[in-house]
Amino acid sequence: MNESEIALPLVLVIDDDQTIHLWAKRHLRVAGFEVIFADNGLAGIDVFKRHSPDIVLVDIEMPEMDGFTTCSGIRNVPGGQNTPLLMVTGTADAERIEKSYLAGATDFIVKPINWQVLIHRLRFMVKASRVFLQLEKSESRLSKAQQMARLGHWEFKIADNKLYWSDEIYKIFERNSHSFIPDQSSFLNMVHAADRLHVEEGFEKAIKNNTGITIEYRITTGTGRQRFVGQQIEVVENQIKGVVALTGTIQDITERKDHENQVRHLAYYDVVTGLPNRTSFLELLSKALELAKRNERSFAVLFLDLDGFKGVNDTYGHHVGDLMLKEISGRLTEGLRRSDVASRYLYHQNYIVDVARLGGDEFTILLNELTQPEDAAIAARNILKWIAEPILLENHKVFSGASIGIALFPQDGQDGETLLKNADVAMYHAKKMGKGNFQFFHDFMNVKARKRMELENCMHQAVSNNELHLYYQPVINVVSGELIGAEALMRWDSPQLGFLYPADFIPLAEESGMILKFGEWAMHEVCRHYKDWQKEGMGYLSIAINLSSLQFNQISLIPMLKEILDEYQLDPSFLVFELTETIIMADSEKMLGTLLELKKMGIRLSIDDFGTGYSSLSYLKRFPLDSLKIDRSFIKDLSTNSEDAAIVNAILALATALNLHVIAEGVETDLQKQFLQNTSCQAVQGYLFAKPMPMTEFQEYWQSS
Ligand code: C2E
Ligand code: CA
Ligand code: CA
Repeated sequence: MNESEIALPLVLVIDDDQTIHLWAKRHLRVAGFEVIFADNGLAGIDVFKRHSPDIVLVDIEMPEMDGFTTCSGIRNVPGGQNTPLLMVTGTADAERIEKSYLAGATDFIVKPINWQVLIHRLRFMVKASRVFLQLEKSESRLSKAQQMARLGHWEFKIADNKLYWSDEIYKIFERNSHSFIPDQSSFLNMVHAADRLHVEEGFEKAIKNNTGITIEYRITTGTGRQRFVGQQIEVVENQIKGVVALTGTIQDITERKDHENQVRHLAYYDVVTGLPNRTSFLELLSKALELAKRNERSFAVLFLDLDGFKGVNDTYGHHVGDLMLKEISGRLTEGLRRSDVASRYLYHQNYIVDVARLGGDEFTILLNELTQPEDAAIAARNILKWIAEPILLENHKVFSGASIGIALFPQDGQDGETLLKNADVAMYHAKKMGKGNFQFFHDFMNVKARKRMELENCMHQAVSNNELHLYYQPVINVVSGELIGAEALMRWDSPQLGFLYPADFIPLAEESGMILKFGEWAMHEVCRHYKDWQKEGMGYLSIAINLSSLQFNQISLIPMLKEILDEYQLDPSFLVFELTETIIMADSEKMLGTLLELKKMGIRLSIDDFGTGYSSLSYLKRFPLDSLKIDRSFIKDLSTNSEDAAIVNAILALATALNLHVIAEGVETDLQKQFLQNTSCQAVQGYLFAKPMPMTEFQEYWQSS
């Protein structure tokens, strides 16, 4: 606030003498005061209440209520205690002066009034009073602030070992300020035993280095509660004696600490299971590394991934999924705590196994102080057993399993990231091996993983670089030997990777989704070739294309197909789609809709690799299918294995009953051919007749047939 904003000081003059009113008005207004008046004591108190003047002049000699009574009356008004109050009197005898001060007067002047002197006095009094008020205000603000901050002040005099505490510190320590006298030892007694050394060192350091420092520690209060405090220590020096005292503040920081702990917990622990998260697991791992390197010891990192967790999540919802993760985490921590492996090592160290959740359905386990790799295998085997136990979740009995990968220090990595990555690679391998098992990491796994990545990278340019080719394998009428069709089979001639068969890239293409692009390319290519053959006047031949389930479920399948057929002006009746049993097994409205749509277009539908999948014969009836291909594994031992022969006969009987066309795949020998010729099987495909061949070669084959 600057001077101009301060209101003019308001003077209240209480006097029955009207001439005083006139004089006061004249002199005081000119000097920059505002003046209000009252004729007697009672009116004076009333005006005071209403206007809260900055200063009051009271005449002692007044009728009815004299100045003394008026003065004490004003002092009793709320806010009237600190206003400067000047008594005005005709005679200054000792008794009056004494009575004035007793009534609460600030000062005293004698009539006749010297106005010039009075003005200076009033100015000074107003100023002093304002400073005083301000001080009082800020002091109460400070103490309120300190109270709010739970901040207290302390002082320690070294010479006489005296410790002074402000009220707030008594409150923080929950001690009675009347009965409790703090000193060095009683103070230290209240400090948490584990923090005492830290506190003593703090004081010593402050004195030794002659600097202010801050320490944080726990205390036990008078009521036995534990609180966290922060203490500021300042050194008070004296030129002759050096450090004579210590002073500073103590603040209750329990809430802040709690909050920090919460934040820390959120940053380091998984909310669902309460287990350490990835961040803290990597920290644990680096500690384990340090220790193992120093002591030349070994440890294991287990990477665990639940099998089929997504299914539980999708079927029962995330809530049940979370319950499942909690249950699994409990089984892991409990089991490992109790297991032989852990207890054997617990003997050496107090923490041995750490379980963490990396996210999703992935858990990691750190087995410290491993004496032999076999112990990690024992732990993994146990874990798989615990997880395989059925889980009851809100009345749903759920079965789970896991795949575990194990990486060992030092052989499988020198740092945490590498160990974790290699354990992950090993886990992936365990999954590939059929789930529900564990695998130790081996270097070849990384080679595999690298190959996989290389393959995936190269795949992106396969179509645009014209690296893909379609080969055609003839389909023959088994009785007449006549060419009746061909199956289009993909080949990838990669400049980087060499000539690849579908087994080398189709699975990955399906996993990565690249199969959609490859599949679209294949349809284009088949149509382009067929158009060329038509132009050559080659006649009719049915061409089979393999369709993976991802392609089949693609929403754009039908429109894309129509567009391609349109582009080449082809009637799709030459096309056969070979579907896997998994596509049909989905058995959904949508699937059936797509099948019918394809049928309507005139495309024929065939079940590929029949007999290897679910082979549920009942579904064959329900779908608009045209043919099935008996898997070549049944054809292989047809002439030697009577069981296989029986199966093939059963399939053929069924197909006849359902009016389905049958193609036998993988016919390599005359014996197989002869066997099939004596059945109702109409078509064959296999190396005995022809291998898959490039487009031009196939065209020649066709022309010469
Ligand atoms: P598939 O549909 O069962 O195709 C038949 C496979 O058996 C072909 O292998 C073929 O070369 C092979 N084969 C044919 N006759 C004989 C024989 O007498 N003896 C033996 N041992 N094998 C024979 P290929 O070309 O390596 O294809 C493997 C698989 O890759 C195919 O199995 C098919 O599932 C998939 N595939 C091939 N091309 C495509 C494609 O364009 N799209 C999709 N989605 N999958 C494809
Ligand atoms: Ca096929
Ligand atoms: Ca097949």
